[in-house]
Amino acid sequence: MSTKDSTRRKQTTVPCPTCSKPVTWASTSLWRPFCSERCRLIDLGDWLDENHRISEPLEGYSEDDSSA
Ligand SMILES: [Zn+2]
Repeated sequence: MSTKDSTRRKQTTVPCPTCSKPVTWASTSLWRPFCSERCRLIDLGDWLDENHRISEPLEGYSEDDSSA
């Protein structure tokens, strides 16, 4: 069996859902379909925000150093 198209490997790319940057669909692209971990987190945070609307700062983190 001989494949004539073996000279040129077709590279599948998909647009990153977050920034629309072309992402190579390969095992080397760890964050596909996102271009990076950052875009992946942004996307996740996006729908999380829509569900919970977390917009309050981290409060309640007080050190318990009250040594009477
Ligand atoms: Zn991206």
